[in-house]
Amino acid sequence: MYNPGKNLLENRVILVTGAGDGIGKQAAITFAEFGAELILLGRKQEKLESVYDMISKMDTPKPCIVPFDLELCEEIAYSRLATKIQEDYGRLDGLLHNAAILGPRVPIENYAYKDWEAVMQVNINSVFLLTKFLLALLKKSDDGRLIFTNSGVGQKPRAYWGAYSISKYALNGLAKLVADELENTSNVVVTSVNPGATRTKMRNAAYPGENPDSVKPATNLMPLYLYLAGPDSRNEHNSFFSSEDDFSK
Ligand code: NAP
Repeated sequence: MYNPGKNLLENRVILVTGAGDGIGKQAAITFAEFGAELILLGRKQEKLESVYDMISKMDTPKPCIVPFDLELCEEIAYSRLATKIQEDYGRLDGLLHNAAILGPRVPIENYAYKDWEAVMQVNINSVFLLTKFLLALLKKSDDGRLIFTNSGVGQKPRAYWGAYSISKYALNGLAKLVADELENTSNVVVTSVNPGATRTKMRNAAYPGENPDSVKPATNLMPLYLYLAGPDSRNEHNSFFSSEDDFSK
């Protein structure tokens, strides 16, 4: 069992996408509990404010809120975000690509192109844009972490899951490609994580007939997420983790 020290993430500035709900919310709160300074990026201001309020009550640096729609923002907004982080923090020690949408589960011949575009925009295009513009800030860290969130359906295609499944395949490729590019040129450690079945809004939408209590809560993932965000994963560059892994041997 991984037993992280209380100050594991002290002096680390970490951006979490989709920080207002689900796994991203739990990751943001947990990273803050272990001392990180959080940049909370998400679509809905109220959800981010609620996470902000929870973190503000802790004895940890105040987080910052970034309301940002990964589907609708233009490229220039991503560039401006990087400039703002440069001005406010001067670097980034962690970027958790977590936000995603499920999209419809229908046969390809019935898959509406507007749904395909939306899923691809949130799940892969926005991840490319954030990575492109924030990499220079991660490289300024002594020990940066770039974490991609994958899924079982990004390893084996799932019939009827359309763009979600394919976007996760593309994400796997992007993670490996970036890892390759950074191999000998930076201190940034690139990893991917498949959280597996986790009790969230997305899981509930995908499996409406399932009893949510039969699925693990996001808190169970946090030892793994802390490991990936903190200094102990220094030698894990280009590795893929799943929630079942005994990663802390
Ligand atoms: P979730 O509960 O649906 O949360 C997703 C988060 O992403 C929400 O905060 C959501 O904001 C945000 N988001 C969605 N569209 C956005 C946009 N256009 N701009 C900004 N933020 C946006 O999902 P989750 O289950 O926590 O999933 C987190 C990650 O784990 C995803 O990458 C998912 O693919 C992966 N995953 C989950 C499971 C599982 O069983 N839960 C299994 C395998 C992989 P709103 O709250 O405003 O919608």
